[in-house]
Amino acid sequence: MPKEKKGNAAAPSATKGGSRLPDTQYTGVNAPNTKTVVVSAVLEITGQVRFGDGTDIATTITEKDTVLGPGGSTCEKAIWAGTKRRGVDRRTIHELRDRLGWKGTCFIPELCCECPICWLYGFTGTTQKKDINAKSRVLYSTSVSVEEFARCVNRHSRNQVDEKSQTTAGAAGIHEEEVVVGGTHFPAYTSLLHVLDWEIGAFAHAFLEDINQNRYTAASRGQGGIRFAENNQDPILIVDESPTGVFPLSVPKVPAWETDYAKVAAVFASHHSSSPSLIDVQSTLQAQGFAVEGDTKRLTARAGSTELIVEAAENFLLVRQGSDELMKRYYGNQALGYLKQKQIEFQKALADPTWRDGLRKEVGAYAAAIQKKEPSKESTGATSPEPSTNPKEGAPDDGTGSSE
Ligand SMILES: [Zn+2]
Repeated sequence: MPKEKKGNAAAPSATKGGSRLPDTQYTGVNAPNTKTVVVSAVLEITGQVRFGDGTDIATTITEKDTVLGPGGSTCEKAIWAGTKRRGVDRRTIHELRDRLGWKGTCFIPELCCECPICWLYGFTGTTQKKDINAKSRVLYSTSVSVEEFARCVNRHSRNQVDEKSQTTAGAAGIHEEEVVVGGTHFPAYTSLLHVLDWEIGAFAHAFLEDINQNRYTAASRGQGGIRFAENNQDPILIVDESPTGVFPLSVPKVPAWETDYAKVAAVFASHHSSSPSLIDVQSTLQAQGFAVEGDTKRLTARAGSTELIVEAAENFLLVRQGSDELMKRYYGNQALGYLKQKQIEFQKALADPTWRDGLRKEVGAYAAAIQKKEPSKESTGATSPEPSTNPKEGAPDDGTGSSE
């Protein structure tokens, strides 16, 4: 079944107007051999960060939301908006793209609509130069803190010091800001739809380096940090990969109202082990109505005429139906290894002038084909590629330390 896949759901208008749009091979936008990947992680603040939600009089505030719990209870949680993660990631990818030799000017908010990243992260014709849209194929979910807002956000005042007199600037110079404190946890999910290996790598580069280099913060002073939360020294990170977009094992998700980190860790731990275990998979499939038999290395799950095979391979779980691979699941350090490998694929592709030329020609032809099909420029429901909020606040500086 994977071979027959046509009509890319993430493509702007893959099969509109009868005739098909050209297949692509450099970009996944209409490529026949793409994958869908879901990256799930628990991220832990290591020291004061601020995601930025504007300024309220003299206070820089952190976004919060009331979430609903069981029995009509409510609680307030800190919010890490997906659009903010996306803004930081995109800037980081742009930076490496340009360093690797891509010619052209493309930055937030002036996107070029012609580069590999525009065709991965999306652009809208209404705000950019071209009369076409590309939906982002990287979807960032908004994260809700595990800990309650009152516990995980602190208010600090910043005194502006006069360098010459060594005095503080007085009341007018005091500014308050809300920061998310160390030890706060955010479960974070990202879906990469219909992507090629280098495209997984572009996201992987941003995700890993933005964590590694502490870029996910809008605070201009005291760059706080973020790390992967750990479980027995293994990062809480799961990468699910499917050639068709069908995932028999779903992502472990945490309810927004949960405030007990031990329970959150347990949700991931039950899906997580340094060597893949089939015990949890067995109970999951049984709960779904499958008759399951097998051992610790291989399970067969049957329901009606459906037969799934789950195998514990060297460093991932494989689920297949007959000879068709349905999904692979990588855990912890193996998931990290997967992302690092893809990160290198991204660098290799972008550093290759032949590849860059090929991509440029391909997206040019593809854009022309879309334009012909959309004379009236109907809305394709494309999501705006970038947040419309003040980019400086919404998506903090690109890590050059120039944010003032
Ligand atoms: Zn671009």
